[in-house]
Amino acid sequence: MSVQEIRLFGDPVLTSPAEPVLHFDKEIRTLVADLTETMHDAPGAGLAAPQIGVPLRVFVWDCDDSEGHLINPTLDLSSEMQDGEEGCLSFPGMSYETPRAFRAVAKGFNMHGEPIVIEGTELLARCLQHETDHLDGIVFIDRLSPTERKLAMKEIRESEWFGIATESGAAPKIKVSPHNTFGLGL
Ligand code: ZN
Repeated sequence: MSVQEIRLFGDPVLTSPAEPVLHFDKEIRTLVADLTETMHDAPGAGLAAPQIGVPLRVFVWDCDDSEGHLINPTLDLSSEMQDGEEGCLSFPGMSYETPRAFRAVAKGFNMHGEPIVIEGTELLARCLQHETDHLDGIVFIDRLSPTERKLAMKEIRESEWFGIATESGAAPKIKVSPHNTFGLGL
């Protein structure tokens, strides 16, 4: 198991839907271990497989005293909403008020193929929604109002990292202070 490079916005893997896991084998256990180690190294509160360049429906989280991994998730969301700052390890140093459902119930499988259910409100609910979005090729700025999204795109274009992330085939190698994500790196 090893720390992997975190892909930055501009990398096509982050805006493409990921494939369901079909075989719960050693490769998946290694992927979960790599995701967990990379999330803790960042540090972040969650990390999805596409963020390390693996287009499979797997994510890990560590927030609100809850830690784990989930494979092939589906979400049930409350109609009640919450406001709050949200950031993403694939958008270093950025955070925006992002509307999310207040409560989420995520159903899926663990690395052994056993069904599991994770239920959370507030930050954990936010995390489950953010990570499941990653598996659908959706990033958090897609959840902003059109005005906020425009501001976010401007900030991205002006960021140091964006040029590197969009260079054809170039893997971005930027290590940004974890403080820049305000502990909200997902
Ligand atoms: Zn993210």
